[in-house]
Amino acid sequence: MGALRIILLDHLSARLEIVAEAEKARDVFLVAEVMAEATNVRHHVKKLAFGYAAARHFAEALRAAGFRVRYVTLDDADNAQTLDGEVLRAMAELSPDRVLVTEPGAWRLREGFEALKLALPVPLEILPDTRFLCSHTEFDAWAEDRRDLRMEYFYREMRRRHGVLLEMDGTPTGGRWNLDAENRKPPKAGLDSPPRRSFRKDAITLDVLEMVRRRFPDGYGRLEPFHFAVTRRQALVELEHFVTHILPGFGDYQDAMVRGEAYLRHSLLAPYLNAGLLYPLEICHAAEAAFRAGKAPLNAVEGFIRQILGWREFVRGVYWRSMPGYLEQNALAAHEPLPWFYWSGETQMACMREAFVHTHEHAYSHHIQRLMVTGNFALLAGLDPKAVHEWYLAVYADAYEWVELPNTLGMALHADGGLLASKPYAASGNYINKMSNFCSGCAYDPKVSTGPGACPFNALYWDFLARHRDRFGANARMPYVYATWDKMGLDKQAALRSQAQAHLIAMRAGTL
Ligand code: FAD
Ligand code: SF4
Repeated sequence: MGALRIILLDHLSARLEIVAEAEKARDVFLVAEVMAEATNVRHHVKKLAFGYAAARHFAEALRAAGFRVRYVTLDDADNAQTLDGEVLRAMAELSPDRVLVTEPGAWRLREGFEALKLALPVPLEILPDTRFLCSHTEFDAWAEDRRDLRMEYFYREMRRRHGVLLEMDGTPTGGRWNLDAENRKPPKAGLDSPPRRSFRKDAITLDVLEMVRRRFPDGYGRLEPFHFAVTRRQALVELEHFVTHILPGFGDYQDAMVRGEAYLRHSLLAPYLNAGLLYPLEICHAAEAAFRAGKAPLNAVEGFIRQILGWREFVRGVYWRSMPGYLEQNALAAHEPLPWFYWSGETQMACMREAFVHTHEHAYSHHIQRLMVTGNFALLAGLDPKAVHEWYLAVYADAYEWVELPNTLGMALHADGGLLASKPYAASGNYINKMSNFCSGCAYDPKVSTGPGACPFNALYWDFLARHRDRFGANARMPYVYATWDKMGLDKQAALRSQAQAHLIAMRAGTL
């Protein structure tokens, strides 16, 4: 035969070279579900089900197009349950003259394929992942000689390079590159999540749900209801629904959080984009077209496009440029173990509980809940970055290491020492109270910092700043907070620090 073409579960794109250049008569695709990847962290069962259902549908589409596909399910009696093992088994049975795989989204897997190269009797080639808009070479060229990597400058270059929201003279549409200042409104009364698309589950998806239920009885999260799109066609329907009905409100309340409302105006497109069912530029073009047609305001469209053309490509560049050392970074020397309530949701902090409920139910919580609630708490409490990273990697349907790790370790935990963000995203209960309606249903009071009912975010916030004054005291973006701390006086400072210790003791005891 010709080539064995390995399709990983997040490479479900017909436009990738591995598919586009396949020869129907000679080549065979290998798609393998393996326990080694299902259990490397405690993945949410919805995430597992989405991955398998989308991969099985993709394999069906390849077969329907006339390709030969070797699909190995978790239940296959001969499954070696590792990727290497499945490649070797396929090699033994099919004798291909070469093996191809698209670059995986985790350093660990790329290293695995590099090692496999040496063990195989035929060449194994790792192809570039051309779904991204910025290649490793282009990112390295941009980053070279820059002391700090800042998303804003990268984003402007991406807008210019891809002609997105750009006028004929090269200036940004609307005169400004970034309209973030208009996208930070607190929730208005009655702000809710508009209805979302849900798709009829066919036999393939029902089989996957049955298998996941049976094989992961103690898995994290709720498996059903299961609303995910599992084919490109369905993902395009989701995109169209988002652009038509939800995008116009994306900007204003992008940072708002509301009790019982997991989605608000967010797109929910990340799983599809990351798995390969949608492409970044088609999403940006659809959003821009809505603006040009007068159907969505610029602050919504620019804010949305910035996430995809800017942040998403930027964090990927940082990941590949900084690995493998990035995973080991712990610039703030944070060593607290992850509290059990991240898994159980059992905490008196209403904001945290809310994020955990969304996460458990939907394998989703929106960006501000990830960053300013669960991430902020982890930062302030000094939780161990690797433990926090493994949690985020496990619990969200969109989580893959290339995108999750820089967001967690760099953006949320500042564990990379500021490579990705110029200042830590640290905030007290005041921020959460302003941007959500969580505090009114909480056992704690956001206006109280010490004594009974004190909101844990308050004392932990000040303790964090005091603990890391050597590092942040001279930060040009933080003089105001340190001036406030200095004005407090020694007694108040001591009370806050001892209150923070009390919160940490309660956290360790599982009573916070
Ligand atoms: P929307 O809010 O609708 O945003 C639109 C799209 O922009 C998203 O679908 C996503 O593709 C992209 N995007 C937005 N913000 C980011 C960002 N910071 N980095 C990269 N892409 C972004 N995103 C993931 O795709 N996978 C992850 O594993 C992941 N882990 C995260 C962990 C932490 C601690 C934090 C703070 C953020 C993480 N993000 C991750 C980024 C972001 O929170 C999610 O992309 C977003 O919440 C997905 O929901 P959505 O599709 O509704 O996004
Ligand atoms: Fe969260 Fe504090 Fe508000 Fe409670 S009072 S919801 S812990 S910010």
